[in-house]
Parts: sequence; C-alpha cells; structure tokens
Amino acid sequence: MNSTKPIFTECNSYGKEDVTEALKRILSDSGLLDFVKPGMKIGIKLNLCAARKPEAAATTHPVPVAELTKMLKELGAEVVIGDSPGEPFTRPVLSHIYNVCGLKICEDAGAELNYDTDFTNTDADGVILHEFAYCDWLTKCDAIINFCKLKSHGLMGMTAAVKNLYGVIPGTIKSEYHFLHRDPGDFSNMLVDINEFVRPVLHIVDAVEVMEGNGPTQGTPRHLGLMMAGKDQYEIDRLCAYILGVSENEIPYLGCAKKRGLLAEKPDTAYLERAKKYIFSDFTRSGATSSWFLYDPTDPPIKALLKKALYVVLRSKPVVTEGCTACGHCIKGCPANAIVIKKGRAHIKRSKCVRCFCCQEFCPTGAMKVKRSAIARMVEH
Ligand code: SF4
Ligand code: SF4
Repeated sequence: MNSTKPIFTECNSYGKEDVTEALKRILSDSGLLDFVKPGMKIGIKLNLCAARKPEAAATTHPVPVAELTKMLKELGAEVVIGDSPGEPFTRPVLSHIYNVCGLKICEDAGAELNYDTDFTNTDADGVILHEFAYCDWLTKCDAIINFCKLKSHGLMGMTAAVKNLYGVIPGTIKSEYHFLHRDPGDFSNMLVDINEFVRPVLHIVDAVEVMEGNGPTQGTPRHLGLMMAGKDQYEIDRLCAYILGVSENEIPYLGCAKKRGLLAEKPDTAYLERAKKYIFSDFTRSGATSSWFLYDPTDPPIKALLKKALYVVLRSKPVVTEGCTACGHCIKGCPANAIVIKKGRAHIKRSKCVRCFCCQEFCPTGAMKVKRSAIARMVEH
C-alpha cells in the first residue's frame, strides 16, 4: 500500500497566477514531479466526460492543465492530453469536445491533443476484469498523470481520482461494461482493477469549482477553492469524500479498496483534521444508493440475504423529469435498450433497466435524474 497522504492547497480561482502558485506548492515544492526526466512522454488523462464549457464544472478545467503542461515542458518532457468520453471514440467527437472544453490554451502551452482512437484488448489480473479494452494512446506514454475533477456521481456517489480512470476504456465500450458489471459492487471492483492496472504516477484533483447535485454532467457548480495531489488515489478520494461531507462508506469503490488491502481500514484522523475547515455541511448528493446495501463477499449468509433484499427495494433509479426534449441521447447511451420515446418524452422500461445511470450522464438537458427511494432517504439522512 502506498501510504503517501495527499497534499492539498487553496486555489481560489482559475486565474493563471492562483493556479500556477497552487500547482507549484502541491507539485514542485513537495517533490511530486521528481519522476519527470528530459525526453519523457507524459500522458495527462483528463476528465472530459462530455462537451461542457469549463464553467459548468463537469470537466477538468483547462487553465490548470495548461499550467501543468508548461511545468512539465520546462522539465524537458513531452506532453499529450486527452480522455475518452462515453460517446463514440472518433476524431470528430474528440475535436468537438476539446473545442467546447477549452483545451486550445493547453495546445498553445505545448500539449499535444490526443487523436489516437485505437485500442487493444489487454490481459488483466483483476477481481472482475481478466481482459479489457484499453486506449492505445496511454500505452505509448512513459508515465501517466491522472488529472480529475471532483463531482457528485449518480452511480458511485462521487467521482474524483479512482472513477476518472474508467475513461481509459474507449468510448461506448464503457456502456457495455456497465451492462456486464451492473451490480455496483462488481462495478466498484472493476474500477479498482483498472486503477491497479493503469497505475498513474501522480493524481491531481481540480477542486476549485466542484459539482454537486445531478452530477457528473448536469449538476450545479460550487466553489471549494482547493487543488489536491498525491500518489495514492484511494487516500485522495477518501479526503475528497471527507471534504464533501459524504461518508466514505457510501462510496462503494473505497469499500472495495479497503477489502483488497489498498486503503487503510480507518482514516488518519489527525491528517483529516487539517481539512476540517473546508468541509461542506450541506453538499447536495446525487441519488446514488448507499454502499451499505451492496454485496460484500465477506458477509455471513444471513446478512448477505438481507442486504440483497434491501438493495432491490432501496436502490436508486433513473427518472425522466420536466425538460425532456425527446432528443434521444439517453437511448444511445443505454446498454440495456431500456428507453423509448413516447408522446414527446423519454420513458424507461423498468424491467430492462440495470440502473447503470449512463442515461443520466448522457442527458444534455439534465432532465434525466437519479432518484433514491423514499425509504433510503429516510434511512440515510
Ligand atoms: S435506463 Fe438508464 S439506468 Fe437504466 S439501463 Fe438504461 S442507461 Fe442504465
Ligand atoms: S431524458 Fe434527456 S437525453 Fe433522454 S430524451 Fe430526454 S432530454 Fe434527451
């Protein structure tokens, strides 16, 4: 286990000066860039989940990426940046997303924007994944930096460093994996499998403006004013959950990491104490189901049975709300063919739905939401 605790610092805006100073404090001053050698090719895996403007707080903001690029170039490295969103992994889609997400300033800073859309089925020695489709552009880099965004998330409760690496799977294949590994416990273990396979050298969290509510693409931006970095993504995400005021027991992949010995069972409270003043007391969660109901292989049979029954009753579900324009984007993202357009709006066939929430992520208007059951809301809050 890498016990390195994450470093965090204040960064009150995306102004160039604030960002440069913050990155210097958490990266150069702490030695986290000591791995960089002249001539090295470094891939920066961003969060570009959808074509959203930087101020929407859905994607990694381009200013910190541009400033990081300059720092790496000064150390003699080559930099390539990119991501694979949930849409088809094609050059036109990437070009559109890079454009909307404001990555031109990163190109001006010397970063190459990735347009390599090839991928390879790679062997993996995971708990869930024994083989998976992995984007080639990342295999051509000497080191990977995971530069993520802190947001609420419909399926996992929160997305930060660990969940961001799901984007190493190309385009719409991600939806297929959602369908294959529909149980949130399996999905969480799959995320940990991917993290253990990819092993970025460094994780950075853009938490200057975070997203609450209907995340990860249609929530509300909220100012936090922090930048974080570290070598251990599980500790970083534990810190993120703490700051959002979300119990780490409600982030299922942290539970999986604990069970696999990748995250200490108990947090270092003395360390977390330093972050106390940044905690949100009223963070609006997405509708994610609590991990309390998730399958746990170490549960005794009676508890496992009880949890399974409760999970079926209490799990969250996608709902179509006012504002649906019948655009059909959710249909393209649904791996279970569970959505149809009827009478000018989307309808979900409950019997087919596997509750992966890809539809919520794909919906460009925010009309598709994740809703927790009434009992779950009473039990959890
Ligand atoms: S309707 Fe939404 S949550 Fe249900 S399977 Fe389709 S994409 Fe997943
Ligand atoms: S729910 Fe969203 S994505 Fe689906 S049809 Fe309506 S507006 Fe489009």
